[in-house]
Amino acid sequence: MQYISTRGGMQPLPYCETLLEGLAPDGGLAVPETMPTVDGETLERWRALTYPQLATEVLGLFASDIPRADLARMTAAAYDPFPEEVVPLRSIGDDLTLVGLSEGPTLAFKDMAMQFLGEVVEYALERRGSVLNILGATSGDTGSAAEHALRGKDRISVFMLSPKGRMSAFQRAQMFSLADDNIHNIVVDGVFDDCQNLVKVLAGDLDFKRTQHLGAVNSINLARITAQTVYYFWAWLRATDAGGWTEVSFTVPSGNFGNILSGFFAKQMGLPIRRLVLAANENNVLDEFFRTGVYRPRSAAQTLATSSPSMDISKASNLERFIFELVGRDASRVVSAWSELETQGYFDFTAELARFVDEFGIVSGTSTHDDRLATIKAVYEATGDIIDPHTADGVKVAREYVEPGVPMLVLETAKPQKFADTIREAIGIELEYSAELRSMLDAPQHKTEMADDEHDLRAFIEAHALR
Ligand SMILES: *Cc1c(COP(=O)(O)O)cnc(C)c1O
Repeated sequence: MQYISTRGGMQPLPYCETLLEGLAPDGGLAVPETMPTVDGETLERWRALTYPQLATEVLGLFASDIPRADLARMTAAAYDPFPEEVVPLRSIGDDLTLVGLSEGPTLAFKDMAMQFLGEVVEYALERRGSVLNILGATSGDTGSAAEHALRGKDRISVFMLSPKGRMSAFQRAQMFSLADDNIHNIVVDGVFDDCQNLVKVLAGDLDFKRTQHLGAVNSINLARITAQTVYYFWAWLRATDAGGWTEVSFTVPSGNFGNILSGFFAKQMGLPIRRLVLAANENNVLDEFFRTGVYRPRSAAQTLATSSPSMDISKASNLERFIFELVGRDASRVVSAWSELETQGYFDFTAELARFVDEFGIVSGTSTHDDRLATIKAVYEATGDIIDPHTADGVKVAREYVEPGVPMLVLETAKPQKFADTIREAIGIELEYSAELRSMLDAPQHKTEMADDEHDLRAFIEAHALR
């Protein structure tokens, strides 16, 4: 299996070679040269597998350059910190089932992909005999998932910038309680955009990037997208009966279009998925796109701070991989769509709108702060189950698309403990923390405070980077 660029300008590369690069050299994203497919017999055989075994099978289709035994070792290690089931399913009534993706170390679905990414990137670096210094900016979930997945690795260090005073106490504790030598928390005197700009400046300095072995593990990373396809297969296998060819629908609380893109891959691979329901919050550029065919990203200043903060995005970095399929894998049409975006601020696929649903099964909806609170309350009153605000956005939009006889699976993207303020507002309950979480919250914190200054950051990286 080889990977090509959505913009047509990259020699085909094997899986491990695409993991250490961000964008393809032509500015596009890596996609499989041909999408692997799975038949009904294979799916039935997979019913008996544990989650790590299933991950080995599915990821083996994408990573044909990794020997099976190595892959099996990596998936076992990646999902070892999870409870035995890894991804439990539970009903919340009204034909809705939650798919629990937040059982990992940082209580959000990012762990599902990051835990595998940590293993496979270290493996790819070992094969190359090189090291990687990850430079990233976070407003919360991604940074902590990356740090927990990469802590203690020999060939990787992490430089994670976060805005001073802008993260919740819980998010700060999750990152700053780590004492590993290869984890560097840098607290910048500025907002998230300032952090992201510092990353862009340094990563754009190709000479510095090369000499310091800088890289990224952002949401376009192919290891993350492929690792996320696994739980769509897992959930289908748990929600259907043996021998049937039952279609199910998934609702996905969405931001960067990473999670739902993995579901789209699973559908392209042959998994019987009827609808992929995209749930957005008030920052609903993607809902707008799937309803109208017009994609008009917003500026950072137009992006609202909401009570489902991990979905607060203004542009969806993975959308290009969907557009590539929409235009029949014609890279020149991808290039022209993105150049229209630059010149006029939007692109328009109104003419293709019917295919979004008929061919790809994608529909969408928006959930607001009031919807979130009402949904958390309704689910709690009906079942006693407390769901987080992002999952609540999913449940709210899922209800609009439930069809008789089609199981509706809603992805649970975080645990409510991460967002205690919104839970209190919705149902007046003070969430209990486990002993383990309490000791994390009380642990000494490790961080370096820094001005919003490129030169200070360069000096810090030069002093601490692996080489
Ligand atoms: C990252 C995140 C999302 C959005 O996922 P995308 O892959 O960016 O669409 C939703 N919910 C939670 C809790 C997240 O951390």
